[in-house]
Amino acid sequence: METVLSGIRSTGQLHLGNYFGALRNFVEMQHENRCFFFIADYHSLTTHPDPTHLHDNIRTILAEYLAAGLDPDVATLYIQSDVPEVAELSLLLSMHAYVGELERTASFKEKIRKQPDNVNVGLLSYPVLMAADILIHRATRVPVGKDQEQHLELTRRFARRFNQIYGVDFFPESQPYTSNHELIKIPGLNGSGKMGKSEGNCVYLTDDEKTIHKKVMKAVTDSGPTEPNSPMPEVIANLFTILRAVSTPEVVADFTAKWNDCSIRYGDLKKQLAADINATVAPIRERYAEIVGDEAYLSKVVRQGAEKARASADATLSQVREIMGIRKF
Ligand code: AMP
Repeated sequence: METVLSGIRSTGQLHLGNYFGALRNFVEMQHENRCFFFIADYHSLTTHPDPTHLHDNIRTILAEYLAAGLDPDVATLYIQSDVPEVAELSLLLSMHAYVGELERTASFKEKIRKQPDNVNVGLLSYPVLMAADILIHRATRVPVGKDQEQHLELTRRFARRFNQIYGVDFFPESQPYTSNHELIKIPGLNGSGKMGKSEGNCVYLTDDEKTIHKKVMKAVTDSGPTEPNSPMPEVIANLFTILRAVSTPEVVADFTAKWNDCSIRYGDLKKQLAADINATVAPIRERYAEIVGDEAYLSKVVRQGAEKARASADATLSQVREIMGIRKF
């Protein structure tokens, strides 16, 4: 059994892309592995979020993950800042992380381009904190997107370096988690690119039926196929990509055949798509509505997660302290 660790950003409102690209796999992997999922609130501070929103953001995202099927009795679901051992491990690891290697990471370079007036130390040491997130549970697998691969490589380097310096075989070299499913990239409804919050082209998991219908009916299409079996332009292929994610193979085959013999009616395709998206998200939306206002349940989940995560973190940290020569009198 692998120990899997995954971070979750601390702003809520998940969309279909998040669901098919990440969340659905988390729900599956929790049953096959020892899983830790944490809401990365320390990490979010590098961009100075408004303190009045931070807590509500965490509540939203927590309720969304629970609604989608993360089971706090199966996986360990916790808030990063509830586990101060992570901050201590980050400090200890930072003693063996070099400024030069941190300055060279692609994400740091991009951040200083994006926010030149706020090049804080947290941005530079972001990969050290991320390594601490992973190594605090000695995680062997981390589900990462393309943009995080370099950070995981750094985590392995820090782990190797620690093992070498102290002559131990303590930290594992964490590898990317490869899912049983091919990861689907969900396109936006506006013709091109992927579905993303900043692109403003999302169907959210908490959208109601009417909103979903409206968004899908407005999706960009073309004037329709003029020759049988012609290749699909991107705008139409995108709708089919979403259809394949949410509909049955029969429905997909039916609309594909209609595309191929030029009898397709985009209105029908969109109606079907809206209905099947709604069927996919409705159970999540309904559960979310129940959970998000249930203060007692949420705080129980958070307490339970913190307790489990701290037990695991403390087991690692006390050994790290010992290895580094920090001993109690
Ligand atoms: P983000 O919402 O950009 O912070 O992404 C969070 C996670 O959702 C990442 O791990 C991505 O792999 C996944 N994700 C985001 N957008 C999409 C998309 N359009 N299609 C597939 N996966 C996505």
